[in-house]
Amino acid sequence: MVSNSLILADRDNIKEKLKGGLLLPLVESFYTIQGEGKNMGKPAFFIRLGGCDVGCSWCDSKESWNANLFPPVAVEDIIQEAIKYKAKSIVLTGGEPLNYPLDIFCNLLKKNNFEIFLETSGSHEFSGHFDWICLSPKKNKKPFSNLIYNLADELKVIIENEDDFLWAEANRDKVKRDCYLFLQPEWSRRDIILPKIIDYIKENPVWSLSLQAHKYINIP
Ligand code: SF4
Repeated sequence: MVSNSLILADRDNIKEKLKGGLLLPLVESFYTIQGEGKNMGKPAFFIRLGGCDVGCSWCDSKESWNANLFPPVAVEDIIQEAIKYKAKSIVLTGGEPLNYPLDIFCNLLKKNNFEIFLETSGSHEFSGHFDWICLSPKKNKKPFSNLIYNLADELKVIIENEDDFLWAEANRDKVKRDCYLFLQPEWSRRDIILPKIIDYIKENPVWSLSLQAHKYINIP
């Protein structure tokens, strides 16, 4: 596992190499169906950027944490790949995409008529412009500012144990009134925690259940 201090030390260095966002550290990109949250079931081209210093113990993309492992790629090249597919939707995920200046990338995507969906923990300064923002805040590195709560279209809180319901409610207090609210079981504990989430949602019906449908049907 890469230590968080190493990632933090490297981050400024990485940003310099990215020419203000003309380049981004690409881990992978793939065309699939969104498995989580409000847009579950919709086809989209996923773009996973490297670099995250949040350190969730259960992270399912730990290989993306160290951005140094992913040489910067021209955003134009990333878009050239995206336009090969029929769905005009981009899911920008990570890692933590807000590690990087995203304005240039978002402008280019918009020029190519893409809808842009952001998946973020909110742990870094906001940049870019998006059609949909899914905020999934994490206890060990809280959102950088309250701005992201005002921008979020969807709040998705990962529930690993019952204490996380308190974390979910603390975040619910900060989002807009019309923000969609989701609780999602931490995958490795789903057998234990899912029944508790179902009971919680039945008692607190402002929340809805998000499942990682892509994992159930074995797609990326
Ligand atoms: S914020 Fe996301 S990418 Fe970063 S460690 Fe947590 S789950 Fe993984």
